[in-house]
Amino acid sequence: MCARPRPPTDHEHRIVSVFESQRQFLTVAQVRDRLMSTGPPIRLATVYQCVKRLLEAGTLERATIRSSTAVYGLRPACGSGHRLMCSACALVVDADDDEVTTWVAQTAALHGFMITDSSVLLSGTCAACAPPLPATVECR
Ligand SMILES: [Zn+2]
Repeated sequence: MCARPRPPTDHEHRIVSVFESQRQFLTVAQVRDRLMSTGPPIRLATVYQCVKRLLEAGTLERATIRSSTAVYGLRPACGSGHRLMCSACALVVDADDDEVTTWVAQTAALHGFMITDSSVLLSGTCAACAPPLPATVECR
């Protein structure tokens, strides 16, 4: 099992802890709200700076929901992992699949590639956010 290195600052460590306790990607404001409810105050600008550093370090990744809202979540610690993310509510579900892992390894070998990151984040709509099915129209 891969371990994620401890972030270099206490603020970054607190932010990573917030993400570790969530099953969804979060906006920076949501991260700050969660930090404020569990510990000492932290400025929004500080959270932005820490999230930027965690992105650059490869600890976090960025996605977009509702067409334009930036949200952030933890990258898989091992550089591999398959996840589904709802593009409406940012729910994230692990969906590791041995067949996909095997396909990645075989395809990389076939083309002479050495894969350094095989994580996959698929986006769609979760069951709770899916639009209702159209009413059934009976043929007469
Ligand atoms: Zn959803």
